[in-house]
Amino acid sequence: NAAPLGASVIPIVNKLQDIFAQLGSQSSIELPQVAVVGSQSSGKSSVLEALVGRDFLPRGNDICTRRPLVLQLLQTKSKSNGGSDDEWGEFLHLPKDHRIYDFSEIRREIEAETNRLAGDNKGVSDKQIRLKIFSPNVLDITLVDLPGITKVPVGDQPTDIEARIRTMILSYIKQASCLILAVTPANSDLANSDALQIAGNADPDGHRTIGVITKLDIMDKGTDARNLLLGKVVPLRLGYVGVVNRCQEDILLNRSVKEALSAEEKFFRSRPAYHGLSDRLGIPQLAKKLNQILVQHIKALLPDLKSRISNALVATAKEHQSYGEITESRAGQGALLLNFLSKYCEAYSSLLEGKSEEMSTS
Ligand code: GDP
Ligand code: MG
Repeated sequence: NAAPLGASVIPIVNKLQDIFAQLGSQSSIELPQVAVVGSQSSGKSSVLEALVGRDFLPRGNDICTRRPLVLQLLQTKSKSNGGSDDEWGEFLHLPKDHRIYDFSEIRREIEAETNRLAGDNKGVSDKQIRLKIFSPNVLDITLVDLPGITKVPVGDQPTDIEARIRTMILSYIKQASCLILAVTPANSDLANSDALQIAGNADPDGHRTIGVITKLDIMDKGTDARNLLLGKVVPLRLGYVGVVNRCQEDILLNRSVKEALSAEEKFFRSRPAYHGLSDRLGIPQLAKKLNQILVQHIKALLPDLKSRISNALVATAKEHQSYGEITESRAGQGALLLNFLSKYCEAYSSLLEGKSEEMSTS
């Protein structure tokens, strides 16, 4: 069965967050953002949606994503943990606590809000739409759906549309903590990939770029993506994952993410060209790859967490010592109590002094 994005990381992150909470520290585990880049209609929104496992993003073979969508996934307590299994979305531009439980309504709201700022004639805006998805089945992570790279202005687009979109994309993916899903359709030339080109600009060493090859199902007859996936065409440090998303007909027929995932699996099983490549095929493998990177990221944070715990431990032991030895004898206990009281008086009088100083200076 498909393990959704974060399935294996959720328990680790939850435990660590608990530890942070006990340390009384404000900070928590910050996971990197994940952004999708590529040319228009390469399948970016489809990939994100499949990773989240719910249908809610505008998709289509025209320009659909026209403003950056910052999608913050937030984990809620499940029913078995004393919460509820409800999943809902909240938009920053709508009143607080306006919960949308119907995911097709979320899609309509994204479309309406896109039109509100970017117009209804293919205009593009760099103003974000911010959406929070609350669910017991997600990991606290932020995904960013970005407009695709286009070359020829259409509708209300300005003549420098390509440069504008590139600048917008770079502003997200140049951040060192951003993981980049570089999406290229299998029916186009990988060596000309806009996705790999812009990802290479932002991440020249390829430490945070995963190649995603979409549309394996509609390649020219007699061709396959085996060499692409093996990195023999354009090598990529973190490698490639090939996927099959829903086609436009599936979208019109309202096929669900779940159906799409089983169709994808069936597709790969039926093609001899892809046998032996199962570690780089399918949305579940992409989720797994992302999870592995997240676990690496968390591991890198652990030494710092460890030193903060031991510092807190040393400080507490010192404070404990300053109260004196705990003894069984009455006299010892009396001395300890006196010690406490005098410390209390000291603290109290210094507090008062501080106050009077404050008053005299003001
Ligand atoms: P974006 O512009 O990069 O966000 O692309 P979308 O996710 O909106 O997809 C563009 C179009 O390509 C839609 O009609 C999708 O149904 C279709 N599409 C995306 N991925 C695939 C795929 O793997 N196979 C097929 N056949 N169609 C796909
Ligand atoms: Mg899109």
